[in-house]
Amino acid sequence: MTPDGVTTSAAFPIPERMKAWVLDGPGEVRLTEKPVPVPGRAEVLLRIDAVAICPSDIDNIWYGWPAIVDGGPPFNKNWTPGHEYMGTVVALGPAVDEFAIGERVAVEIHAGCGQCRRCRAGLYTSCLNYGNRAKGHRANGFTTDGGFCEFQVNHVNTMARLSDDISDELGTLVVTAGTAMYALTEIGGLIAGESLVVIGEGPIGLFVAAVGKALGASPVVVTGLSPQRLAIAKGLGADHVIDVRDTDAVAAVKAIVGELGADYVVECSGAPVAIGQAIAMASRGSRVCLAAFPAESTQVDVGRLVRDNIALFGIRGEGKRAVHRACALMRDGKFDARPLHTHTFALDDLPTALHYAKDKLDGAIKVVVKARGVAAGRVAAE
Ligand SMILES: [Zn+2]
Ligand SMILES: [Zn+2]
Repeated sequence: MTPDGVTTSAAFPIPERMKAWVLDGPGEVRLTEKPVPVPGRAEVLLRIDAVAICPSDIDNIWYGWPAIVDGGPPFNKNWTPGHEYMGTVVALGPAVDEFAIGERVAVEIHAGCGQCRRCRAGLYTSCLNYGNRAKGHRANGFTTDGGFCEFQVNHVNTMARLSDDISDELGTLVVTAGTAMYALTEIGGLIAGESLVVIGEGPIGLFVAAVGKALGASPVVVTGLSPQRLAIAKGLGADHVIDVRDTDAVAAVKAIVGELGADYVVECSGAPVAIGQAIAMASRGSRVCLAAFPAESTQVDVGRLVRDNIALFGIRGEGKRAVHRACALMRDGKFDARPLHTHTFALDDLPTALHYAKDKLDGAIKVVVKARGVAAGRVAAE
């Protein structure tokens, strides 16, 4: 039976219940069943076709943050993690005509409440009702159920159409590219020809380099610890990469961008030492963006920020429809994200997939799980 006002199609039959992973204690995920959610006003139901594992999922599952479920840590709340997914529209909530059943979409994480003054200004990732479901706020996989399951509801504002030439696996990466876009443009104010330094060669750092190059930053410098990932950074468009294991990162960056320092620095590692380095390598009047979640409180040289008019700011995820614009860059082939996707597992094998992502086994960068089309029990699908 179809709930009132919800549109479905015989081409996409929807079961009443679905497979869903839930988080018990720290690091303990369990496969169970949940009712398939019902889309409300301005929402659709997605059949989840692929979902990537993000370093933030590892943080949420093992350490309980940055997820906040019902005002506290996410453990033992029957909560489903996972936020970097794509899927197919299979049901429309009442009065939804922005999407059609059968369309493939990538999602962004945050649906703001739409009524606070941050949301009204387009800053829905800074919603003042963050985590308040009754006010309409959703951050799937952080405050509300996420994507390690078969179906999920999404607000129409959080979905970007995928062209057919973007695979399901690449579609899961659009939200990370969107976060990079937001850090670079709306929040960072990057303009073509400025020098860009990216600290950290995890997925977000690699995308900041790729999108920054596509936007005309020059030179683009990436610092990191993994030769494998630094090679990928070069493939994505970085002009220079610096292995900081045996190099003074600040001196090496200045040797490339000039003694005065870089125009824009995006810190994507979360390491306290790197945050200090980011400020040290920024030029007078420049900007430093913190895009990773540091595990501990960190001292920084505030005097340098004041003396030299340097803006220091954090970002949490995407915003201002940056995901849509990142999707356009991928569609136009401005960079090749395929090397970032390293492994695919069946949804049933999520614990193995998490293990690969957490411990970076076999060169894992982006590990994807799929509910259909991948045999369970395969150690690595490619
Ligand atoms: Zn993520
Ligand atoms: Zn809001």
